[in-house]
This record gives sequence, structure tokens and C-alpha cells, in this order.
Amino acid sequence: MKTDTFFSKPIVILGPMESESAWLVAQLENRKDRHVGAYTFCEGFIGGYPVVVCRCYIGVVNSAAAATLAIQLYQPLCVIIQGTSGAHAPALHQGDIVLGERIVHIGRFFTPHRDKGAGTEPFAWEPQGSEIVSVDPEEFTDVLYSDSRILHIADSVPYAGGKVIRGTIGAADIWNRELDMIAHLHETLGTDCEEMEGFGVAQVCAQLGVPCANIRVISNSEWYEDEEFDQKYGESCQMFVLEVIKRMIAQNTLL
Ligand code: SAH
Repeated sequence: MKTDTFFSKPIVILGPMESESAWLVAQLENRKDRHVGAYTFCEGFIGGYPVVVCRCYIGVVNSAAAATLAIQLYQPLCVIIQGTSGAHAPALHQGDIVLGERIVHIGRFFTPHRDKGAGTEPFAWEPQGSEIVSVDPEEFTDVLYSDSRILHIADSVPYAGGKVIRGTIGAADIWNRELDMIAHLHETLGTDCEEMEGFGVAQVCAQLGVPCANIRVISNSEWYEDEEFDQKYGESCQMFVLEVIKRMIAQNTLL
């Protein structure tokens, strides 16, 4: 395959932090970088197929902006957002992988009225749907989904670092450490883990009609004292995702 030109329909992979993107960047063959403001889109090839890796920076807005730019620049085959996350399900531990079959927003709520001085009751807050016209032009959407073909491939990837489960990933610009809130989100929204980018990327992809997948490693769990955030798990997730895209390329998934 010709590797001196960069043709359309690459696979785009986003990772928020250096520790969640640099390893994948280093795997690219014939790499060239394209800079747009704060973002660097690293263009290259994996097994002869074009792949773009971008550090999208932390948070829903940063990652949504990176996804928007990537879609406009490359008309990609798909966008994969990946990286670390905190466990909501007590059964999950550091190193486990969550394939985001469902992606939910955990920072978008409608609060009942309370008088001045009546305090705050977060457990009474009701989730607000997101306005995603491409999913449902009439209604607000509570849940977005990773592309089933990508998850089907991911199901078959061998992984020695822990369990690989399909689950629900919550995202918002918040890092929850209160176990009562973590348990509440787990029970009411079904979240298996939380992070700070997935819904933004999935929302942009839904609005623009591009397949998306959210794949996360557990890097911390408030349920266990000895499972504090460790960025080394960012590399485990990148290694797993590399295997996913290698299989997608070999099997022509989405093509
Ligand atoms: N506190 C860390 C920085 C991590 S910032 C430090 O001091 O180095 C948050 C990033 O980690 C986000 O990209 C988010 O997606 C991910 N993340 C990992 N665990 C998380 C958790 N429990 N809650 C929210 N985001 C988490």
C-alpha cells in the first residue's frame, strides 16, 4: 500500500492526556503532524492503513472540539475515544477494560425548586436528555452507543491486564470521589465507570453521523483504598485499542 500520501477515511483515536496518547503516537509509521491551535493531529499508518492520533486534552469540551476538528479534517471511518476511568461498579478493578456499549452524561441535571436556605439535594436531581437531532429530532436523548461493529471486534481481543466487559460509561466535567454519589449514579444510570470526555465525543459523532466507540481502562476505584489513580493504565488501554484497530483493518470492519 502506498504510504507517502494520506488518503481519506482514516481511523481517528483520541486520548486526553499525554499518558493516554503518546504510546499510540509512537506506534504510527511514516508520521506527520498537523497542528490546529492547541491540538496536534498525528497522521500515520498502522499496517498500511491511515490512522490519526490526537491528544484531545481533559474534559468534555476539549474532546468534543478535537472530535469536531478531526471529522472536518479527515472524514474518518470512525472516532475512538479511549483512556482512563474511575470504577463505579464495585466488581471492577484497576486494569479492567470497559467497552462503552452505552455512554451517558453524568453532569446534566434538572433540579427541583428549593427555597433559599433549604440546602441542596443532589439525589433528587433528574437527568436531562441531550439534544441530538441525528438520534431523535423530537426528543432529548439520554444514552449514546458505541458502534456495535467496533465493540464486536473488541470482544475478541485477548487481554492479560484484567477483565474486559461491555458496560455503561458516564462522562462529565467532574471527578466524583463521594461513594454515596458513585453508588447513586451506578444504581440510577447504570454506570460502570466514569471519565471526562466520552459523552462529548459521542455527541459530536452522533450529530455529524460518524461511528464512534468509547473504550476505557479502570485506573482508580474509590471502593478500594489501594486503587488510587495510576496513569500507567493509560498505556494498557492504548495497547488494547491498537489490537482493536489492527483487527478492524485486517477484517475491513466498517469499510
Ligand atoms: N488527577 C490526575 C489527572 C487526571 S484528570 C492527576 O493528578 O494526574 C482526569 C482525566 O482522567 C480525564 O481525562 C478523565 O477522563 C480521566 N479519569 C480517570 N479516572 C477518573 C475519575 N474517577 N473521574 C473522572 N475522570 C477520570
